[in-house]
Formats: sequence, C-alpha cells, structure tokens
Amino acid sequence: MPKSKSLVWFRRDLRSFDHAALHRALAGSGSVYCAFVFDTDILAGLPPDDRRVHFIHASLRELDADLRRLGGGLIVRHGRAEEEIPRLAAELGVETVFANHDYEPAAIARDNRVARKLGADGRLFATSKDQVVFERSEVLTLGGQPFSVFTPYKNAWLRQLAANPDALAPHEIEPLAARLAPAPAASALPGLADIGFAEPANPVAPAGMSGAADLFEHFLDRIASYGTARDFPADDATSRLSVHLRFGTTSIRHLVRTARQMAAHGAAGAEVWLSELIWREFYAMILYHHPRVVTQSFKSAFDAIAWEQGQAADAAFAAWCEGRTGYPLVDAAMAQLNQTGFMHNRLRMLTASFLTKDLGIDWRRGERYFALKLNDYDLASNNGGWQWAASTGCDAQPWFRIFNPLTQSRKFDPDGNFIRRYLPQLAALDAREIHAPMLAEPMLLLAKGVQMGRDYAWPIVEHERARKQTLARFEAIRAAA
Ligand code: FAD
Repeated sequence: MPKSKSLVWFRRDLRSFDHAALHRALAGSGSVYCAFVFDTDILAGLPPDDRRVHFIHASLRELDADLRRLGGGLIVRHGRAEEEIPRLAAELGVETVFANHDYEPAAIARDNRVARKLGADGRLFATSKDQVVFERSEVLTLGGQPFSVFTPYKNAWLRQLAANPDALAPHEIEPLAARLAPAPAASALPGLADIGFAEPANPVAPAGMSGAADLFEHFLDRIASYGTARDFPADDATSRLSVHLRFGTTSIRHLVRTARQMAAHGAAGAEVWLSELIWREFYAMILYHHPRVVTQSFKSAFDAIAWEQGQAADAAFAAWCEGRTGYPLVDAAMAQLNQTGFMHNRLRMLTASFLTKDLGIDWRRGERYFALKLNDYDLASNNGGWQWAASTGCDAQPWFRIFNPLTQSRKFDPDGNFIRRYLPQLAALDAREIHAPMLAEPMLLLAKGVQMGRDYAWPIVEHERARKQTLARFEAIRAAA
C-alpha cells in the first residue's frame, strides 16, 4: 500500500461515490483527508439567506456523515480557499492535493494560483475530469476545432461515447475506503450562522446525495414521456436535478448510464433527456474554449447592438425582475424564480426573450439577475441560455424569431394553471382571460376581483411594436456588418 498522504478538495462535487478526484487520491495514497472551504471570495457577494449556501451546507452534512461511515470525515474551513488549501496541506503534511476540473475562467485562475502556492512548498496539485463525460477538447470537429453548433457536437459526442464506453465507468470509492484518514475532531462543520448565513424562508429541497437520488427515482417513472411533457411548466415533467448537477450531489456518469439503459428499453423520452445533458456539456465546452463569452457576445458583431438604456430601461428592467410586466406567464415565471430559485426551462427561454426582444434590454443584465437568483446557477449554461435567447450566442435562436408572450402562454400553459399558482390575484380568471387580462372586458374582470392597474399591471410594452423595434435593432447590425 502506498505510504503518501494526500488531501481531496471538494468544490462542486459534494458526494462520496463515483468521485474522480477522491478515487484517484485513494488509489495512489496511503492516507487521504477530505476538505471543503466556504470560500469568502465567493460568499462575499451573496445575501445572508442565499438558498445555495444553505443547500451546500445541508449537502455537506450528509457528505461528512457518509465519509465518517466509510472511516473518514470532512475538514471544513471558512476563509479564502486559495489560502486555506495550501495552509491545510501544510498542516496535514500531505504531498498532493487532488481536485476535480472546473471550467469557469475565475475558477481556473484560482486553481492555477493554488497550484503555484502548493508547488512553492514542494506539493502537487492534481486535477481530474469529473463533472462532465467529455470535456475541453475531447469532442472536436473533423478539422480538430471546437464545435459551435449543437447537433454535430451531439453526434460527435455520441460517437465518442460509443468508442469509449469506459468514459461512463464509475470511479469507485468504497473498495478503497480503508485509506480514508479520520477527520481531526476540531474540524466539524460550522453552523450556517458561524459563516454569516441564515436559513432561507424557502430552502431548496431535497438537498444532498439522498435528495438527488430521490428526485432521480421519481423522475425515472416519468422519463418516457419527457419528450412531449417537458415544455409545460405546470406539470411535474422534468427532473429538477440541475441544482444537484451544479453541486455534484449526483454523478453525471450515473445519470447518462441510466438514461441510455432506459432509452435502450424503449423509453423515447430518455433520449431527449440525454440530449439536454449533452447541451450542458456543450456549453461547458464553449465556455472553456471561448472565455470571452462571460462578458461578450459569442458572435462579436452583436456587441454593437444598441440596447435600451437610461431611466425608462431601468424601470422596465425593475418591472421584469419583480414580475410586473403585465404579461401573466412572464410575471408568473419571475415569481417562481424570486420565490423558489427555480424557473422552468421554457420560461427561462420566454423571460430571457421578453427582456432582450420585447424590452430591448442587454442580455448581460438578465444573465446577472439569474445568476443572483437561480439555485442551479451555472456560468456556462446560464450564459449559453441567455445568449441563445438574445440571438447573440453560438447556435442561437435566429434574431428574427421573436417569441410572442401571449402565444407562448396559450400554448405552454393552456389551462393557465401555472399562472394561477404564482399569480393568485388572477386565479379566478378562466383559460380564455388569464393569458391576456389586458384584452378582457373590464367589467368581467371586476366581477372576478381583478381591476387592471390595481390588482394586476397593465402591459409595460406592446408586443407588436416591440417586435418591430427589435427587428430594426438587429437589422442595423446586419447593415453595418
Ligand atoms: P431537465 O429538463 O430534467 O434536464 C436535465 C438536465 O440537463 C438539467 O438538470 C441540466 O443540467 C441539463 N440541461 C437541461 N436543459 C439545458 C440547457 N438548455 N442548457 C444546459 N443544460 C441543460 N441550467 C443550469 O443548470 N444552470 C443555469 O444557470 C441555467 N440558466 C439558464 C438560463 C437560460 C436563459 C436558459 C434558457 C436556460 C438555462 N439553463 C440553466 C438550462 C435549463 O433551463 C435548466 O438546466 C433546466 O431548466 C433545469 O431543470 P431540470 O433539472 O428539471 O432539467
């Protein structure tokens, strides 16, 4: 058995099974410590009742318990990760710190600094692929370039998997668990209050590995119909696993293996769901190869778009954030985001389209708002989704395709049930009125307890006029290009 000591630094991989860095550390060391750092560089910008911090905290409690069951335990620190990790490595006298790859530019820069600090002390920093099946340049065009269109990427991704089925093999932990070093007694998980946070009013549930497993089991009963049901936000048709994929309380390899098995057994929806998991990898790959997308349009020409600015745009942005646009499905979607931290994918597309194409507001403002609110906020997928909706991204919605918020509402929430759930003031309206109360007879609305302007906002923009302005806004770029 190897004698060396090592440390595994958990980040967005909060699980004790199928874990690449932990497996690699256990396979190559005699004694393995496990640590997590509540990184003050990240926590500093968050509100005290941030749901994600609570989710991480709850997930760490379970991770620590499971590591203890296996003979180890978690050392938890609160401070700047890039200082805490080298310090802890020195205190424990480990030779190597293991972690899993991150593809966000700021995380890559931090990891490079940690590697340098560890290196200066004669220690190694060893990282592994874990959060995706294929990363970086593992899926390229025949010409050796990164893809910028999804469908050929997906086809190449599937071919790559067929050629390398081992890419889905689990990184086993239990057979090597005897090498886990018990966590020092003084390393216990601090309380939320100890790190300056409080329990949110509406926490993300369920958290942790067990939460992810329960959600997945529940979803597998419905995966067969995912292809047809996934666009209807009132229905419980999608997996809700995004926050778990974000924080690694589930394993992407396990999800992909299961989806393929279900597809092989005839569950058509499983194939569609697998495509969504591949979208996630597509955007991670785009961010890795094109880090400029964090602040710039993927298609540079669109950086010249004259987005609306000034007081009127600020007021419209505030109305969008607070769900006061006068378009019920848009407002219900923003209420879902503000109240729960989740928003259904169809509604993310709709609200992002509404902000950029009905209100003419820069996608970066909406992207930042989502980053603040989404439980599953992931820079790559969020940026990709926003640039898709704004038509500035790779393989994006063409700029002349503009969602009509009323048509979307009638199509994807036909009975108005989603609107009723988040806009109770409109609950008495029937399916004909609820999508567009601004068009309904005022006396009829009043009979149902709704007075426009008092109980519900008048529309802040007229869709048809906004559509023409947006077409002109994008045409101007085309003319100039
Ligand atoms: P399911 O339908 O069950 O899909 C399974 C998984 O596939 C998801 O959990 C997610 O990991 C992945 N996935 C699904 N759709 C997409 C997609 N379009 N792009 C990338 N991955 C996808 N997803 C995030 O995880 N974080 C974000 O910050 C994020 N921001 C978005 C912003 C906009 C404007 C848009 C249009 C989409 C965004 N998405 C984001 C993608 C998608 O909306 C969510 O992943 C999905 O709604 C999560 O619900 P679910 O877990 O039930 O998904």
